[in-house]
Amino acid sequence: MGGLIVRYCRESDYLLTFNQNNGFFLRMGKGGKDPFYNALGPELLDISITNYCARNCGFCYRASHVGGLHMAHEDYEAVMGQARKLGVLQVALGGGNPNEHPEFVRILETTRRHNIVPSYTTNGQGMTAEIYEATKKYCGALAVSWYPPYADAREVVRQAGIHKIKTNVHFMLSLETIPEAVDLLDNESEFLEKINAVVFLNYKPVHSSRDLCLTDGPETRRFFESVKKTSACKIGFDSCMVSYLTLLGDDLERETVDFCEAGRFSAFVSEDMRFYPCSFLKDMSEGVDLGAVSLGDAWRDGAEFQKMRGRLKARGVQEHPIEACGTCSDYDFCRGGCQIFDVNRCRPGASMAGSPAPAAGLGAADGPGPDPRAAL
Ligand code: SF4
Ligand code: SF4
Repeated sequence: MGGLIVRYCRESDYLLTFNQNNGFFLRMGKGGKDPFYNALGPELLDISITNYCARNCGFCYRASHVGGLHMAHEDYEAVMGQARKLGVLQVALGGGNPNEHPEFVRILETTRRHNIVPSYTTNGQGMTAEIYEATKKYCGALAVSWYPPYADAREVVRQAGIHKIKTNVHFMLSLETIPEAVDLLDNESEFLEKINAVVFLNYKPVHSSRDLCLTDGPETRRFFESVKKTSACKIGFDSCMVSYLTLLGDDLERETVDFCEAGRFSAFVSEDMRFYPCSFLKDMSEGVDLGAVSLGDAWRDGAEFQKMRGRLKARGVQEHPIEACGTCSDYDFCRGGCQIFDVNRCRPGASMAGSPAPAAGLGAADGPGPDPRAAL
């Protein structure tokens, strides 16, 4: 399907390796020092190709709906042409439900034609034989969202198995869903053996209640015990979980983890051709109009991109600063967690009364954290 890319990123003085066949990725800074960002452009683009979705989930951070806009193919082609020149390696297609874009297969083909590897996340609806075949031919991996009722997701995993497609389950973790996460990890090993990984995504209250945000309480501690015991498949986390990953202690390979990559190595393009450091900013800020500014110029000079990098570089400048970050010995690992949403483990009020003492060396002011590709 593809090849091995080894690249020296001159503008930022680091080396990367990416295997297009199996997704293996490695980034190496000079003298063992991690690079802060890629000055030329993102390594990974999240692209919402449609805001169409028929599921009406109350927690949807994009409030996707059946009248959702589809990105025009010519716009997608233009983004791919610029992305290729900037060295983008991978595209994560989302929405909405991306596979219900009327030109979805053509979009996958277009991506590969630009030597970029696509993957996508489906809610399980609208999958067809043609889409499974195109997925096998063009994609690195397929992800299916794990929301009740689970029949659609289970069917996607079954079909993906028949087509030999690498499949992940994406599980949005909130105070409401955490018992289901424990149940999945503890009681579904036969199902987990059929997939590559479960990737847990930290809940963000964009169009939904703040009361569902994770806290550092007994349920979360119980969840991480289940994570440690799971061997039927890999476990991953999005970088938005970074402040919670300290709870894994020595069971976490810290080299597999990076703090928030928004505006550093990844960025988001919306279906209406606006460009943001991360997809969760879509309904909170204006983004850059890609009809007027190129992808490369927006990445380099866009105010939101520069602001995001500034926040990730220095303590105490987040949207919701956390006092404990000021003296946290894990700051270099976590960088204060999410810079936009008040969803981090060490925020005031997130530590529940009655929760057990932190693991040795992992105090509230002693945190740590990862990236969407963090894995155990
Ligand atoms: S800014 Fe926050 S929501 Fe966006 S990718 Fe970073 S951690 Fe996640
Ligand atoms: S206190 Fe440490 S672990 Fe907690 S959010 Fe700040 S840097 Fe991260």
